[in-house]
Amino acid sequence: MKADTYKLKDFSSFTKDIINVSGEKINNCYQCRKCTAGCPITFAMDILPHQIIKYIQLGFEEKVLTSKTIWLCAACETCGTRCPNEIDLAAMMDALRQRALATQYRNRIGEKGTSVFHQEFLSSVKSNGRVYEAMMMAKSRMRSGHFLTYLLRGDWIADIKLFIPMLLKGKMGMLPHRIRNRKEIKKLFKKFAIGRKV
Ligand code: SF4
Ligand code: SF4
Repeated sequence: MKADTYKLKDFSSFTKDIINVSGEKINNCYQCRKCTAGCPITFAMDILPHQIIKYIQLGFEEKVLTSKTIWLCAACETCGTRCPNEIDLAAMMDALRQRALATQYRNRIGEKGTSVFHQEFLSSVKSNGRVYEAMMMAKSRMRSGHFLTYLLRGDWIADIKLFIPMLLKGKMGMLPHRIRNRKEIKKLFKKFAIGRKV
């Protein structure tokens, strides 16, 4: 078992919450930057993965929760496999996204389109037990904040061109495919407080 680099009691409540919710020993990070060196999305991020960890350690909640990075992370887990301290940054990003949506920072999300997609994905799984792709995409487009542009520019034509072949091949359905025991899924959402204040 590794010794903690810093003691938990020394951290802010924000830092402790993220450590508790993600289950990751963020306090063990010693800024070697191996996570960032392997991340395939850094070109689009406004704060690099190792910097996100440092900001969490320092309790810079606003800086982290209004960043684009927490929404751009693709959860590919490359960083976690490279980390000498076995910190799963993808799990940490999940905890940060949930906190961003549950706090006053929900109105200052760094990547609105991605956060709407994230919320609609979870909402679809919660209702159906699995994703109802057609409805999730339609609702994400409508809530993106760019719906009029999407219509006027004709971007919807590209979506329809993708949707029809997928429909014909049975990859997407017009109606949702619901699982039987949806109550269990709802219990999981409740248990892990998904969409609630962390
Ligand atoms: S690889 Fe691990 S220890 Fe190194 S900076 Fe990233 S999170 Fe910190
Ligand atoms: S899980 Fe996220 S932060 Fe880590 S390497 Fe993948 S995209 Fe980058």
